[in-house]
Amino acid sequence: MLDKIKTICIDPGHGGYDPGACGNGLREADLTMAISLEVSRILGVNGITAIMTRTKDVSPSGDSNLGHELQARCDIANRAKVDFFLSVHINAGGGHGAEILVHNMNSQAVPVATRIVNRVGSLMGLHGEPVKVSDRNLYVLRATNMPAALVEVGFIDSAGDAAKIKANVRLIARLIAEGILNKSLVPQNAAPAPAHTTESVHTCKVKINGQQLPLPGYLRGGKSYLPVRLIGGLSGAGVGWDDKAHRASLDGKVLEDTILIESTGYAWTWDIAQVLGFKIGWDADTGTVLLTKGGC
Ligand SMILES: [Zn+2]
Repeated sequence: MLDKIKTICIDPGHGGYDPGACGNGLREADLTMAISLEVSRILGVNGITAIMTRTKDVSPSGDSNLGHELQARCDIANRAKVDFFLSVHINAGGGHGAEILVHNMNSQAVPVATRIVNRVGSLMGLHGEPVKVSDRNLYVLRATNMPAALVEVGFIDSAGDAAKIKANVRLIARLIAEGILNKSLVPQNAAPAPAHTTESVHTCKVKINGQQLPLPGYLRGGKSYLPVRLIGGLSGAGVGWDDKAHRASLDGKVLEDTILIESTGYAWTWDIAQVLGFKIGWDADTGTVLLTKGGC
């Protein structure tokens, strides 16, 4: 059982002779590099030893042979005997949202992968089933000796995804790191979130199984927050409120990331979805958080 990750290898996909996928003026190899460097930095600050397969725009094997390059990435992780291997990629080929690939569903990587993709998906939306078994039998998942996952942050050939990734490299890195650490981190250069907030927020629409809610949700710091009492009521869940801690709860589960806006409690969409068993989507065109139960 993979208890606690103490050492990790972060693998920025592509690089050097191979720019990866390109679209909307962006190169996959550059984005994976920027995100991975920041993930490593955040993990380092939080007590995890993070090594990387590359730290600049090069092929890790030093040549332009795909087999050598992929083996070099695995060798770096295997030699260091890290607890976990995470390859970072940006998808292409028509689609939208985040997904994460594992070698098989029995892999010890699955719980970590689930946390990572749900956090990234809270920003990017999800591309179908969030955790998938790699049907391409991916080299870096197969040839690494430790639990391994390959995250596809979003689609570089989707204008919406590309713009969001470009604008949120640091936030995406933080969400990935939060998934690895299994805890929420206070954004850098920001004070701890006050329970009563006056900082600028934007509204968004919220739909549950296609039905729009009469109250808006709020977007703050790249996360979305939804009205707890309304959603709890509609879902038949028990809603609680801790007046001292300013934290809402659903069915007795405390929603740590609760904020108050005009005396109404809003909680982070991901936490609400976890408790109530919703899948999260995001319609960038209409600015709508989509919560669905069952298929997707
Ligand atoms: Zn890739």
